[in-house]
Amino acid sequence: MFKALVLNKQGDRVTAAVEEVDEARLPEGDVTVAVEYSTLNYKDGMIIRNKAPLVRTYPHVPGIDLAGRVSDSTHPDYRPGDAVVLTGWGVGERSWGGYAQRARVKGEWLVPLPEGWRTEHAMAVGTAGFTAMLAVIALENHGLEPGAGEVLVTGAAGGVGSVAVALLAKLGHQVTASTGRAESHAYLHALGASNIIDRAELAEPCSRPLEAERFAGCIDAVGGTTLARVLGQMKYRRSVAAVGLAGGSELHATVIPFLLRGVNLLGIDSVYQPMATRHAAWQRLARDLDLAMLEGMTARASLQDLPRLASDILQGRVQGRVVVDPNR
Ligand code: NDP
Repeated sequence: MFKALVLNKQGDRVTAAVEEVDEARLPEGDVTVAVEYSTLNYKDGMIIRNKAPLVRTYPHVPGIDLAGRVSDSTHPDYRPGDAVVLTGWGVGERSWGGYAQRARVKGEWLVPLPEGWRTEHAMAVGTAGFTAMLAVIALENHGLEPGAGEVLVTGAAGGVGSVAVALLAKLGHQVTASTGRAESHAYLHALGASNIIDRAELAEPCSRPLEAERFAGCIDAVGGTTLARVLGQMKYRRSVAAVGLAGGSELHATVIPFLLRGVNLLGIDSVYQPMATRHAAWQRLARDLDLAMLEGMTARASLQDLPRLASDILQGRVQGRVVVDPNR
Protein backbone atom coordinates (compact mmCIF):
# COMPACT_ATOMS: atom_id res chain seq x y z
CA MET A 1 0.00 0.00 0.00
CA PHE A 2 1.12 3.59 -0.57
CA LYS A 3 -0.27 7.04 0.13
CA ALA A 4 -1.68 9.13 -2.74
CA LEU A 5 -3.93 12.07 -3.46
CA VAL A 6 -6.90 10.45 -5.20
CA LEU A 7 -9.50 12.29 -7.29
CA ASN A 8 -12.96 10.76 -7.48
CA LYS A 9 -15.79 11.95 -9.73
CA GLN A 10 -19.52 11.77 -9.01
CA GLY A 11 -21.64 13.45 -11.66
CA ASP A 12 -19.85 16.73 -12.42
CA ARG A 13 -18.23 16.92 -9.00
CA VAL A 14 -14.59 15.97 -8.45
CA THR A 15 -13.36 15.42 -4.90
CA ALA A 16 -9.76 15.08 -3.73
CA ALA A 17 -8.59 13.12 -0.67
CA VAL A 18 -5.43 11.42 0.54
CA GLU A 19 -5.98 7.64 0.50
CA GLU A 20 -4.03 4.40 0.96
CA VAL A 21 -3.77 2.72 -2.45
CA ASP A 22 -2.78 -0.85 -3.34
CA GLU A 23 0.37 -1.00 -5.48
CA ALA A 24 -1.46 -3.48 -7.77
CA ARG A 25 -3.62 -0.56 -8.97
CA LEU A 26 -0.66 1.33 -10.48
CA PRO A 27 -0.88 1.72 -14.27
CA GLU A 28 1.20 -0.32 -16.69
CA GLY A 29 4.79 0.71 -17.24
CA ASP A 30 8.32 -0.65 -17.16
CA VAL A 31 9.70 1.48 -14.33
CA THR A 32 8.31 1.84 -10.78
CA VAL A 33 9.50 4.91 -8.93
CA ALA A 34 9.57 5.55 -5.19
CA VAL A 35 8.52 9.18 -5.42
CA GLU A 36 10.55 11.52 -3.24
CA TYR A 37 9.04 14.79 -4.46
CA SER A 38 6.44 16.20 -6.80
CA THR A 39 5.42 19.80 -7.35
CA LEU A 40 2.52 22.13 -8.06
CA ASN A 41 1.87 23.52 -11.53
CA TYR A 42 -1.02 25.56 -12.90
CA LYS A 43 -2.22 22.48 -14.79
CA ASP A 44 -2.29 20.46 -11.53
CA GLY A 45 -4.57 23.16 -10.16
CA MET A 46 -6.88 22.78 -13.17
CA ILE A 47 -6.94 18.99 -12.79
CA ILE A 48 -7.59 18.94 -9.03
CA ARG A 49 -10.28 21.63 -9.33
CA ASN A 50 -11.74 20.04 -12.51
CA LYS A 51 -11.40 23.25 -14.54
CA ALA A 52 -10.54 21.59 -17.85
CA PRO A 53 -11.42 18.17 -19.33
CA LEU A 54 -7.87 16.82 -18.96
CA VAL A 55 -8.59 13.61 -17.00
CA ARG A 56 -10.52 10.88 -18.76
CA THR A 57 -10.86 8.19 -16.10
CA TYR A 58 -11.41 8.29 -12.35
CA PRO A 59 -10.33 7.42 -9.67
CA HIS A 60 -7.24 9.39 -10.70
CA VAL A 61 -3.93 10.25 -9.07
CA PRO A 62 -2.83 13.71 -10.32
CA GLY A 63 0.62 15.32 -10.32
CA ILE A 64 2.21 16.08 -13.71
CA ASP A 65 5.78 15.92 -12.36
CA LEU A 66 7.73 13.56 -10.14
CA ALA A 67 11.26 12.79 -9.03
CA GLY A 68 12.53 9.87 -7.01
CA ARG A 69 14.43 6.58 -7.05
CA VAL A 70 13.72 3.62 -9.30
CA SER A 71 12.44 0.74 -7.15
CA ASP A 72 11.78 -1.73 -9.97
CA SER A 73 12.66 -1.67 -13.68
CA THR A 74 12.56 -3.83 -16.78
CA HIS A 75 13.76 -0.90 -18.91
CA PRO A 76 17.37 -1.34 -20.10
CA ASP A 77 18.41 2.22 -19.13
CA TYR A 78 17.21 2.17 -15.50
CA ARG A 79 18.10 0.10 -12.44
CA PRO A 80 16.83 0.14 -8.87
CA GLY A 81 18.31 3.08 -6.98
CA ASP A 82 18.69 5.38 -10.02
CA ALA A 83 17.56 8.95 -9.39
CA VAL A 84 15.05 9.97 -12.07
CA VAL A 85 12.91 12.94 -13.09
CA LEU A 86 9.67 12.97 -15.07
CA THR A 87 7.77 15.96 -16.43
CA GLY A 88 4.87 15.87 -18.87
CA TRP A 89 4.00 13.04 -21.29
CA GLY A 90 0.41 13.18 -20.00
CA VAL A 91 1.43 11.70 -16.64
CA GLY A 92 -0.97 13.00 -13.98
CA GLU A 93 -3.52 13.60 -16.78
CA ARG A 94 -4.02 10.44 -18.84
CA SER A 95 -2.11 8.15 -16.49
CA TRP A 96 -1.54 8.33 -12.72
CA GLY A 97 0.98 10.91 -11.61
CA GLY A 98 3.33 12.15 -8.94
CA TYR A 99 1.04 12.99 -6.00
CA ALA A 100 1.81 9.60 -4.50
CA GLN A 101 4.57 7.66 -2.79
CA ARG A 102 4.76 5.31 -5.82
CA ALA A 103 4.41 5.80 -9.57
CA ARG A 104 4.67 3.44 -12.51
CA VAL A 105 5.72 5.00 -15.81
CA LYS A 106 7.42 4.29 -19.11
CA GLY A 107 11.21 4.37 -18.88
CA GLU A 108 11.34 6.34 -22.15
CA TRP A 109 9.67 9.28 -20.36
CA LEU A 110 12.36 9.59 -17.68
CA VAL A 111 15.45 11.77 -17.59
CA PRO A 112 18.30 11.19 -15.15
CA LEU A 113 18.62 13.65 -12.26
CA PRO A 114 21.11 16.39 -13.25
CA GLU A 115 24.60 15.90 -11.78
CA GLY A 116 25.01 17.42 -8.32
CA TRP A 117 21.27 17.97 -7.82
CA ARG A 118 18.90 16.45 -5.28
CA THR A 119 15.48 15.22 -6.43
CA GLU A 120 14.03 18.15 -4.46
CA HIS A 121 15.88 20.60 -6.75
CA ALA A 122 14.41 18.94 -9.83
CA MET A 123 10.91 19.35 -8.46
CA ALA A 124 11.54 22.94 -7.39
CA VAL A 125 12.12 23.41 -11.13
CA GLY A 126 9.34 21.05 -12.31
CA THR A 127 7.35 21.59 -15.50
CA ALA A 128 7.13 25.32 -14.78
CA GLY A 129 10.89 25.81 -14.59
CA PHE A 130 11.60 23.37 -17.40
CA THR A 131 9.22 25.38 -19.58
CA ALA A 132 10.92 28.64 -18.62
CA MET A 133 14.21 27.09 -19.76
CA LEU A 134 12.68 25.93 -23.06
CA ALA A 135 11.43 29.48 -23.60
CA VAL A 136 14.87 30.98 -22.93
CA ILE A 137 16.46 28.50 -25.36
CA ALA A 138 13.83 29.34 -28.01
CA LEU A 139 14.55 33.07 -27.66
CA GLU A 140 18.31 32.41 -27.89
CA ASN A 141 17.77 30.28 -31.01
CA HIS A 142 16.03 33.31 -32.51
CA GLY A 143 18.92 35.64 -31.82
CA LEU A 144 18.47 36.90 -28.26
CA GLU A 145 21.78 37.71 -26.65
CA PRO A 146 22.71 39.65 -23.48
CA GLY A 147 22.89 43.36 -24.19
CA ALA A 148 20.01 43.29 -26.69
CA GLY A 149 17.79 45.27 -24.32
CA GLU A 150 14.86 44.72 -21.98
CA VAL A 151 13.48 41.17 -21.84
CA LEU A 152 9.93 41.06 -20.52
CA VAL A 153 8.56 38.25 -18.32
CA THR A 154 4.79 38.31 -17.73
CA GLY A 155 3.12 36.53 -14.82
CA ALA A 156 6.54 37.05 -13.31
CA ALA A 157 5.79 36.12 -9.69
CA GLY A 158 4.31 32.75 -10.73
CA GLY A 159 6.23 29.51 -11.24
CA VAL A 160 7.25 29.86 -14.89
CA GLY A 161 7.80 33.59 -14.41
CA SER A 162 10.03 33.28 -11.33
CA VAL A 163 12.36 30.73 -12.96
CA ALA A 164 12.40 32.76 -16.19
CA VAL A 165 13.40 35.95 -14.31
CA ALA A 166 16.17 34.13 -12.41
CA LEU A 167 17.52 32.42 -15.55
CA LEU A 168 17.48 35.52 -17.74
CA ALA A 169 19.12 37.68 -15.07
CA LYS A 170 21.86 35.10 -14.45
CA LEU A 171 22.50 34.96 -18.21
CA GLY A 172 23.11 38.72 -18.20
CA HIS A 173 19.84 40.01 -19.59
CA GLN A 174 18.10 43.16 -18.45
CA VAL A 175 14.84 41.74 -17.10
CA THR A 176 11.54 43.60 -16.86
CA ALA A 177 9.03 41.70 -14.74
CA SER A 178 5.30 42.24 -15.16
CA THR A 179 3.27 41.41 -12.06
CA GLY A 180 -0.12 42.21 -10.60
CA ARG A 181 1.17 41.81 -7.05
CA ALA A 182 2.75 44.85 -5.38
CA GLU A 183 3.89 42.59 -2.53
CA SER A 184 6.06 40.60 -4.98
CA HIS A 185 8.22 43.53 -6.15
CA ALA A 186 11.05 42.96 -3.65
CA TYR A 187 10.94 39.22 -4.42
CA LEU A 188 11.27 39.86 -8.17
CA HIS A 189 14.13 42.32 -7.67
CA ALA A 190 15.88 39.66 -5.55
CA LEU A 191 15.52 37.18 -8.43
CA GLY A 192 17.25 39.67 -10.71
CA ALA A 193 14.54 41.86 -12.29
CA SER A 194 15.87 45.35 -12.84
CA ASN A 195 12.51 46.87 -13.74
CA ILE A 196 8.93 46.05 -12.75
CA ILE A 197 5.74 47.01 -14.54
CA ASP A 198 2.19 46.60 -13.34
CA ARG A 199 0.24 43.81 -14.99
CA ALA A 200 -2.60 46.29 -15.69
CA GLU A 201 -0.34 48.32 -18.03
CA LEU A 202 -0.25 45.41 -20.47
CA ALA A 203 -3.73 43.99 -19.85
CA GLU A 204 -5.54 46.98 -21.41
CA PRO A 205 -6.24 46.39 -25.12
CA CYS A 206 -4.64 48.91 -27.47
CA SER A 207 -6.44 50.10 -30.61
CA ARG A 208 -3.13 50.59 -32.48
CA PRO A 209 -1.40 47.42 -33.72
CA LEU A 210 2.05 48.95 -33.21
CA GLU A 211 3.34 50.95 -30.25
CA ALA A 212 6.85 52.20 -29.49
CA GLU A 213 9.47 49.45 -29.89
CA ARG A 214 10.53 48.43 -26.41
CA PHE A 215 11.29 44.75 -25.71
CA ALA A 216 14.16 42.65 -27.09
CA GLY A 217 12.43 39.45 -25.99
CA CYS A 218 9.48 38.22 -23.98
CA ILE A 219 8.46 35.11 -22.06
CA ASP A 220 4.70 35.34 -21.74
CA ALA A 221 2.84 33.20 -19.18
CA VAL A 222 -0.35 35.27 -19.40
CA GLY A 223 -1.69 35.19 -23.00
CA GLY A 224 -4.92 37.05 -23.87
CA THR A 225 -4.84 40.83 -24.23
CA THR A 226 -1.39 40.93 -22.58
CA LEU A 227 0.16 38.87 -25.35
CA ALA A 228 -1.65 40.90 -28.03
CA ARG A 229 -0.34 44.13 -26.49
CA VAL A 230 3.23 42.84 -26.11
CA LEU A 231 3.42 41.88 -29.80
CA GLY A 232 3.02 45.56 -30.70
CA GLN A 233 5.79 46.60 -28.30
CA MET A 234 8.50 44.24 -29.56
CA LYS A 235 11.65 45.57 -31.19
CA TYR A 236 12.34 44.84 -34.86
CA ARG A 237 12.77 41.07 -35.57
CA ARG A 238 12.56 40.12 -31.89
CA SER A 239 10.64 37.18 -30.43
CA VAL A 240 7.94 36.39 -27.90
CA ALA A 241 7.86 32.90 -26.40
CA ALA A 242 4.19 32.11 -25.67
CA VAL A 243 4.08 29.79 -22.69
CA GLY A 244 0.82 30.25 -20.82
CA LEU A 245 -2.75 31.38 -20.53
CA ALA A 246 -3.06 32.59 -16.92
CA GLY A 247 -4.82 35.73 -18.24
CA GLY A 248 -6.79 34.06 -21.05
CA SER A 249 -6.44 31.67 -23.95
CA GLU A 250 -7.85 33.94 -26.66
CA LEU A 251 -5.61 36.07 -28.81
CA HIS A 252 -7.16 39.08 -30.53
CA ALA A 253 -4.31 40.68 -32.42
CA THR A 254 -3.40 41.87 -35.91
CA VAL A 255 -0.66 40.42 -38.08
CA ILE A 256 0.94 43.89 -38.40
CA PRO A 257 3.78 43.26 -35.86
CA PHE A 258 4.74 40.14 -37.86
CA LEU A 259 4.62 41.92 -41.22
CA LEU A 260 6.09 45.33 -40.43
CA ARG A 261 8.48 44.47 -37.62
CA GLY A 262 9.29 40.82 -38.37
CA VAL A 263 8.27 39.88 -34.84
CA ASN A 264 8.27 36.14 -34.10
CA LEU A 265 5.69 34.40 -31.95
CA LEU A 266 7.22 31.17 -30.67
CA GLY A 267 5.01 28.43 -29.23
CA ILE A 268 6.42 26.52 -26.27
CA ASP A 269 5.17 23.05 -25.34
CA SER A 270 6.72 21.18 -22.43
CA VAL A 271 4.66 17.99 -22.50
CA TYR A 272 5.85 16.24 -25.66
CA GLN A 273 9.32 17.78 -26.07
CA PRO A 274 11.63 15.27 -27.72
CA MET A 275 14.26 13.61 -25.50
CA ALA A 276 17.21 15.44 -27.03
CA THR A 277 15.79 18.87 -26.14
CA ARG A 278 14.76 17.61 -22.69
CA HIS A 279 18.32 16.54 -21.91
CA ALA A 280 19.67 19.82 -23.26
CA ALA A 281 17.20 21.87 -21.21
CA TRP A 282 17.99 20.02 -17.94
CA GLN A 283 21.70 20.45 -18.60
CA ARG A 284 21.18 24.16 -19.15
CA LEU A 285 19.13 24.38 -15.93
CA ALA A 286 21.93 22.68 -14.00
CA ARG A 287 24.38 25.20 -15.45
CA ASP A 288 22.35 28.42 -15.51
CA LEU A 289 19.99 28.27 -12.54
CA ASP A 290 21.43 29.43 -9.26
CA LEU A 291 20.38 26.83 -6.63
CA ALA A 292 20.29 29.44 -3.86
CA MET A 293 17.92 31.49 -6.02
CA LEU A 294 15.82 28.37 -6.67
CA GLU A 295 15.67 27.65 -2.93
CA GLY A 296 14.56 31.24 -2.30
CA MET A 297 11.56 30.91 -4.61
CA THR A 298 10.38 27.51 -3.32
CA ALA A 299 7.85 26.64 -0.62
CA ARG A 300 7.10 23.15 0.71
CA ALA A 301 3.83 21.27 0.99
CA SER A 302 2.33 17.85 1.76
CA LEU A 303 -0.33 15.87 -0.14
CA GLN A 304 -2.94 17.17 2.31
CA ASP A 305 -2.14 20.77 1.32
CA LEU A 306 -2.85 20.20 -2.38
CA PRO A 307 -6.62 20.83 -2.61
CA ARG A 308 -6.12 24.28 -1.02
CA LEU A 309 -3.01 25.02 -3.12
CA ALA A 310 -4.87 24.01 -6.30
CA SER A 311 -7.38 26.81 -5.70
CA ASP A 312 -4.58 29.22 -4.78
CA ILE A 313 -2.59 28.66 -7.96
CA LEU A 314 -5.66 29.14 -10.18
CA GLN A 315 -6.31 32.44 -8.43
CA GLY A 316 -2.72 33.65 -8.90
CA ARG A 317 -2.01 33.45 -5.16
CA VAL A 318 1.03 31.18 -5.27
CA GLN A 319 4.37 32.96 -5.46
CA GLY A 320 7.23 31.08 -7.09
CA ARG A 321 7.34 27.30 -6.85
CA VAL A 322 5.97 24.68 -4.44
CA VAL A 323 7.65 21.33 -3.83
CA VAL A 324 5.33 18.55 -2.68
CA ASP A 325 6.64 15.84 -0.33
CA PRO A 326 4.36 12.76 -0.52
CA ASN A 327 6.21 11.11 2.37
CA ARG A 328 5.42 13.89 4.83
P1 NDP B 1 1.34 30.37 -11.77
O1 NDP B 1 -0.07 30.47 -11.28
O2 NDP B 1 2.41 30.03 -10.80
O3 NDP B 1 1.73 31.73 -12.49
C1 NDP B 1 0.85 32.44 -13.30
C2 NDP B 1 1.02 33.92 -13.02
O4 NDP B 1 0.26 34.65 -13.97
C3 NDP B 1 0.49 34.35 -11.67
O5 NDP B 1 1.40 34.15 -10.64
C4 NDP B 1 0.24 35.83 -11.92
O6 NDP B 1 1.50 36.49 -11.86
C5 NDP B 1 -0.21 35.85 -13.37
N1 NDP B 1 -1.67 35.86 -13.48
C6 NDP B 1 -2.56 35.07 -12.84
N2 NDP B 1 -3.81 35.38 -13.19
C7 NDP B 1 -3.72 36.39 -14.08
C8 NDP B 1 -4.67 37.15 -14.81
N3 NDP B 1 -5.98 36.93 -14.69
N4 NDP B 1 -4.23 38.12 -15.64
C9 NDP B 1 -2.90 38.35 -15.76
N5 NDP B 1 -1.95 37.66 -15.09
C10 NDP B 1 -2.36 36.70 -14.26
O7 NDP B 1 1.33 29.30 -12.95
P2 NDP B 1 2.61 28.67 -13.72
O8 NDP B 1 3.72 29.63 -13.67
O9 NDP B 1 2.80 27.28 -13.28
O10 NDP B 1 2.03 28.62 -15.20
C11 NDP B 1 1.85 29.84 -15.91
C12 NDP B 1 1.11 29.56 -17.21
O11 NDP B 1 1.93 28.79 -18.07
C13 NDP B 1 -0.18 28.78 -17.03
O12 NDP B 1 -1.14 29.27 -17.93
C14 NDP B 1 0.21 27.37 -17.40
O13 NDP B 1 -0.88 26.62 -17.86
C15 NDP B 1 1.22 27.63 -18.48
N6 NDP B 1 2.19 26.55 -18.66
C16 NDP B 1 2.41 26.09 -19.91
C17 NDP B 1 3.33 25.13 -20.15
C18 NDP B 1 3.60 24.70 -21.55
O14 NDP B 1 4.07 23.59 -21.77
N7 NDP B 1 3.35 25.55 -22.51
C19 NDP B 1 4.05 24.48 -19.05
C20 NDP B 1 3.84 25.11 -17.76
C21 NDP B 1 2.91 26.10 -17.58
P3 NDP B 1 1.67 37.91 -11.14
O15 NDP B 1 1.06 37.75 -9.78
O16 NDP B 1 3.14 38.12 -11.12
O17 NDP B 1 0.93 38.92 -11.97
